[in-house]
Amino acid sequence: MPDRPPACVCCGNSQLRSVDPYFPLWQPYKGTVFSTYGQYGSTVYDAEHRQLIIIVCDDCLLKKAAAGQVLQQTLPACVHQHETVVIWEGPRSSEEEEGDSHVG
Ligand SMILES: [Zn+2]
Repeated sequence: MPDRPPACVCCGNSQLRSVDPYFPLWQPYKGTVFSTYGQYGSTVYDAEHRQLIIIVCDDCLLKKAAAGQVLQQTLPACVHQHETVVIWEGPRSSEEEEGDSHVG
C-alpha cells in the first residue's frame, strides 16, 4: 500500500503529502483523487473489483477548469430530476468555503 499520494498525473508534482492519517495515505492535501473501474470505451482498462486511482493537484485542476477541460455532473436528488453535466469553471465562493472546511 502506498504510504503517500502518487505524483499529480498532469504536472508530475511528487511533493503532495497525505491530508490526514485517518484517510487513505494516498488522499492528498491540495489535490483530488479520481478512480475508475474502467470505461466502456477504453481499449486499455476495464476491470472488475479493481480500480485505477490517479491524483490531480489543485493547481492543475484549476488550470484544466479554466481551459474548459473539466466537466461537473450534478446527480438527481430524486427520480423526477435529470442529471446534468456542464463544463466546470472552477470553484465558486460557496464551493471554496465547503472545500476549505475539509482541510486543516
Ligand atoms: Zn499537477
